[in-house]
Amino acid sequence: MKKILLITLSTAVLAVLLTVVFWPFNRPRYWFLPPIAVEYYECSKCESMEGGIYGKGPFERFRSKKSRLCLHQWQPISRAKFIERAKQNFGVDLTKNWWWAQEMELR
Ligand SMILES: [Zn+2]
Repeated sequence: MKKILLITLSTAVLAVLLTVVFWPFNRPRYWFLPPIAVEYYECSKCESMEGGIYGKGPFERFRSKKSRLCLHQWQPISRAKFIERAKQNFGVDLTKNWWWAQEMELR
């Protein structure tokens, strides 16, 4: 009897774990071990954005209302566009932060 309970419990735990790991919606650009790189992305489907220095910071993540059930399609965008869209779509003025305020070329 105890064994059945244990099996049931471990199966449930495994199921939850797998769901969390393989949940396909609202995934960041780099879900596992991001490289340390300066990149900016926008989802072409729901207009969520994320960018900055991946793996190190400063890093910003903006999620639109549609993002929860979006299979994001991350498209690289320019730094200038990222800052502009953050203000336009999410009302966040990134230029108040020194790192975002400085001029930087994207490669
Ligand atoms: Zn999306």
